[in-house]
Amino acid sequence: MKKDDNERMGNKVFVMKPDKKIALVAHDNKKSDLIEWVKYNKILLSHHIIYATGTTGLILEKELNIKIKKLQSGPLGGDQQIGAKVVDNEIDFLIFFWDPLEPQPHDPDVKALLRMAVVWNIPIACNRSSADFMISSPLMDSNYERLVPDYEIYRSRVIES
Ligand code: PGA
Repeated sequence: MKKDDNERMGNKVFVMKPDKKIALVAHDNKKSDLIEWVKYNKILLSHHIIYATGTTGLILEKELNIKIKKLQSGPLGGDQQIGAKVVDNEIDFLIFFWDPLEPQPHDPDVKALLRMAVVWNIPIACNRSSADFMISSPLMDSNYERLVPDYEIYRSRVIES
């Protein structure tokens, strides 16, 4: 479907460029998984722009010598920073290896980030197999028209007063 048709169907179109803005986040017990995954996919990732929460970013930079835009550590607001960037269309892809077996002090932030990713329809991978499928998609290196519901309908809803 063409961009104009999609916009008429109640969606907005956001074009994701071949160089994607990818956010990487891993909880402590999942950091080694993410390091291995990034190491394995270093060449595929090399032309994308990589963001990460503080500790994840620091470890990836040290271990793999790659350039990363580091935000705050997750529990100190890093997840919320990524969420805000998703809203502002500054992040278009999320790899988030969260730990299903350990409660986190910032559980509400984790949930909020995952929610924003769904609200703005950005691709999310929460484990290695999803990340593998996503990184090997031909869409990674091409323009992709991401459809987002036209929230104008929501914004202009009538509130009884
Ligand atoms: P970290 O944060 O990379 O600073 O450890 C990850 C998270 O828990 O969101």
